[in-house]
Amino acid sequence: MTATQIRQAFLDFFASKGHVIVPSAPIVIKNDPTLMFTNAGMNQFKDVFLGEAPAKAPRVADTQRCLRVSGKHNDLEEVGIDTYHHTMFEMLGNWSFGDYFKKEAIAWSWELLVDVYKLDKDRLYVTYFEGDEKEGLEKDTETYELWKQYVDEYHILPGNKKDNFWEMGETGPCGPCSEVHFDSRPDSERAEVSGATLVNADHDQVIEIWNNVFMQFNRLKDTTLQPLPNKHVDTGMGFERLVRVLQGKSSNYDTDVFQPMIQFIAEKSGQKYNSAAKPGDADWNDAVAMRVLADHIRAISFAIADGQLPASNKAGYVIRRILRRAVRYSYQTLGFKEPFFNELVPLLAEQFKGVFDELWSQKDFVQKVILEEEIAFLRTLASGIKRFNELTSVFASITSVEHPVGTLTEISHGRKIRGEHAFELSDTYGFPIDLTELMARERNFSVDIDGFNAALKAQKDRSRAATAIDTGDWILVKDEDEAVEFTGYDETETIAHIIKYRK
Ligand code: ATP
Ligand code: MG
Ligand code: MG
Ligand code: MG
Repeated sequence: MTATQIRQAFLDFFASKGHVIVPSAPIVIKNDPTLMFTNAGMNQFKDVFLGEAPAKAPRVADTQRCLRVSGKHNDLEEVGIDTYHHTMFEMLGNWSFGDYFKKEAIAWSWELLVDVYKLDKDRLYVTYFEGDEKEGLEKDTETYELWKQYVDEYHILPGNKKDNFWEMGETGPCGPCSEVHFDSRPDSERAEVSGATLVNADHDQVIEIWNNVFMQFNRLKDTTLQPLPNKHVDTGMGFERLVRVLQGKSSNYDTDVFQPMIQFIAEKSGQKYNSAAKPGDADWNDAVAMRVLADHIRAISFAIADGQLPASNKAGYVIRRILRRAVRYSYQTLGFKEPFFNELVPLLAEQFKGVFDELWSQKDFVQKVILEEEIAFLRTLASGIKRFNELTSVFASITSVEHPVGTLTEISHGRKIRGEHAFELSDTYGFPIDLTELMARERNFSVDIDGFNAALKAQKDRSRAATAIDTGDWILVKDEDEAVEFTGYDETETIAHIIKYRK
């Protein structure tokens, strides 16, 4: 089955069970202070769960574009290193708003996976919530009993609060959940080690594909759980993961969802993509970089198409950070010295035509925004990398402070980048702190984050003092929140903008 057929089969299946198919909400959330980006299919129904809005229909299903790059669900560091966490992904979902509950949700999950998609049931594992004494939450034996009708009991596993109690964010709707995992290891490995021991163990061939959440509570600011007026079903299945298991691949990037992009990047860079590369292999870095580009272009393009331009603060800065992360891989690892990342947009837009047309209709605009961002960052990237290399070269060949070589004023604790240097990289060269951390990790360095924050704060204090001395109306123009998050590099731009604005 192609990815397109797999998506359609999901929607058709739930339509046949009385669900109304609804469109995806935008990936960017504008009116919820608790969430910047859509991180799950249920976000757009939050008010329905809380009893604050009526449901359009008691049963709905869709494919929702999601982004997990900030807040409670942040997978950014995994992306490209593993093969199944993306920044932007599609979450296939079905919902019951006070209508059906566990019995139907479980029966239909099984029917779809085994009867429709024909997944091998010996490779499937399911989980249920084991309870949590501290929270006063009971073990979900009902779910265990329901699964027992379909699944061998050795394939039904208890799970703790971390894996089996789903929460949208620090506050909001939540409840116990039941996941489905798929073991795609070869038979020989499966015979040796049971898949049951590898569920939720970060094994890249035993991965979670679907989560059925039984929404029953609202997590309040004071951390207590308040029962919801009704009980609901909220499910989310990772589309790219589903495609991977149905297409018999061992990496999401080997499916037809990502291959066109990966092949394009490989061809243009003159390198081969080796899906099987392992850390330490000569082609590992290239493989990671190609995966990162193929992934990040999705997050950035859809964020822009949904109205979030890269910027120097808040959600816009999250997008700029991801973009600069991609551009650094493109420039340094894959050797694109000229803007290249933006060239992926037409390919992506074509791929999502008829699924998420928002991108197709704005593809030229999206590409132009990315191109401009690339040009701006490429202006300082080379000198920033040079400075980074200087900062890390003194100790590049030693692994312990017991062998100090060079000057200890340059780097305080062996393989650690001092806070003021991380700040310099951000302030002068536009390196977001997480980019510096990523590059540091690649060289086995760490970064003094406290020191970085102190330097950032000192700069803010200086700029506040300067602002106060100057004419008072600047303070009116400048948003306080903005001052909290922007980096020095971007501040220059912001101030230039303010000056222009005042003129
Ligand atoms: P994992 O444990 O693998 O990080 P999760 O438990 O955080 O996944 P859920 O919040 O339960 O994920 O989301 C529902 C489904 O969405 C998951 O079962 C998975 O298939 C998919 N999913 C979650 N995070 C990602 C991601 N970063 N990229 C791709 N798919 C994802
Ligand atoms: Mg996760
Ligand atoms: Mg999980
Ligand atoms: Mg889960």
